[in-house]
Amino acid sequence: MDLKQRIARWMEDHRGLIVVLVVLPLSLIFDALIQLRLWIIRKFISAPEKHDERVRTIQSQVLRWNKHPKAERKLMCTARPNWQSLSTTFFRKDLCHKISIPLYDILELRESHMTIRVEPMVSVGQATAFLVPRGYTLAVCLEVAEATLGGLAMGVGMTTYSHKIGLYQEGIVAYEVVLADGSLVKATKDNEYSDLYYTLPWSHGTLGFLVELELKIIKIKPHLKLEYIPVKGQKQYCDMMRDLSGALDKNRPTPDYLEATVYNREEAVIMVGNFADVPDTEQHKVFQDIVLPMTQLEDQIDKNEELFDIYPILIYPCRIYDHGPHRGQLRPPRREQMVPGADYGMFNDLGVYGVPRVVKEKKRFDAVDAMRKMERFTEEVGGYPFLYADTFMTRQEFEKMFDLMAYDQVRRKYNAEGAFPHLHDKIKPEIDVVEVGKQYMDPL
Ligand SMILES: Cc1cc2nc3c(=O)[nH]c(=O)nc-3n(C[C@H](O)[C@H](O)[C@H](O)COP(=O)(O)OP(=O)(O)OC[C@H]3O[C@@H](n4cnc5c(N)ncnc54)[C@H](O)[C@@H]3O)c2cc1C
Repeated sequence: MDLKQRIARWMEDHRGLIVVLVVLPLSLIFDALIQLRLWIIRKFISAPEKHDERVRTIQSQVLRWNKHPKAERKLMCTARPNWQSLSTTFFRKDLCHKISIPLYDILELRESHMTIRVEPMVSVGQATAFLVPRGYTLAVCLEVAEATLGGLAMGVGMTTYSHKIGLYQEGIVAYEVVLADGSLVKATKDNEYSDLYYTLPWSHGTLGFLVELELKIIKIKPHLKLEYIPVKGQKQYCDMMRDLSGALDKNRPTPDYLEATVYNREEAVIMVGNFADVPDTEQHKVFQDIVLPMTQLEDQIDKNEELFDIYPILIYPCRIYDHGPHRGQLRPPRREQMVPGADYGMFNDLGVYGVPRVVKEKKRFDAVDAMRKMERFTEEVGGYPFLYADTFMTRQEFEKMFDLMAYDQVRRKYNAEGAFPHLHDKIKPEIDVVEVGKQYMDPL
């Protein structure tokens, strides 16, 4: 074994070390330089208004190539170096006549058509940064930020939204292409270049030079709710993927995003993503910490099951003191709740966090009604909810649960009135409880 082979073997045996100490830092630097290059292009060279002029320059490069004697002509390809491309095949561009395609601009957002016009070197990340703040995304949008919209159009694109739309090419409305004779044509589904429209995808730049794309966009919501579903059994996860994707029934409502990671033959996690507004994500969750007497621990657990059926729930004990004449907002424990011989009762925090079972089962859930019942139970047993979470009590109910006599006196004494909001005003729902109750009952 010569020295070169030995070094290669050593590097293979220690590939973890090489990756951490060499590859990762180098790729970080490489990424930073690429980002810097793109930033310079966008900042100093970007000029959508010069699009037509740039296309003419590309046409003239092709026309010049046409002037070479046929026998001397090398085949044409884009001048983009292989190292910049995400493709892992390395085509011998050095043997070709290279045509420079410096087209990096977003040209026009056509909201009325739900499309966007872009130049081919616009990256997925660039398009997303432009579209998302405006409430849109590409109809087929890869998670690979560096991929170019032109590269995907000439190659192929598929993503976790594709069960709804299809391949990336299904989201392309029009291609503008410089053909081998230097002419510029626009290919759409139903114009005279429709044959080109259908053959440009998967053509990898072997039919012409792409200079513009018109792509479909879709509306998005500000959030994406992701659900991770672990599934055991090959048949189970395969069946679930077929069902969720709509492969078995075209009328089945499908999630916005769908993918699975298979960890071994029998174990997979299926990921389901749906666009969501903040309230839709929040409204079906319960966050409650309630201070309740341990004398009624069984009743607490039963009540949780009756109203929310969320498990696991959290329980940890806490002394609640009877401070005698020194009143605060907490009413002292009732006589039967006191620990024998002590000046305190043993209460506990009941922590209920999560999604009620009926919501998981996609059935109706009246969150306000459930919360109101929990509040009534809390009041009956002499407990009190933490006030960081939603409470729906009226002022009267609130004053029944909490003792506000000393509080009101102290507010007057220390000039808090008129300076700070009243406790109930601060924690009461900002919303119309009845209205929200109706919304909460909307099916998912
Ligand atoms: C880790 C990884 C994960 C990936 N995951 C996915 C995935 O989930 N889904 C998916 O669809 N793809 C995926 N890809 C593939 C990737 O999206 C493709 O490589 C894609 O081609 C985009 O790369 P690019 O923008 O660098 O295009 P390039 O590789 O530069 O271009 C693709 C082809 O189009 C030609 N071309 C590009 N621009 C023009 C032009 N203006 N005119 C004429 N011809 C042109 C090129 O010559 C080339 O043949 C993944 C790639 C990697 C490395």
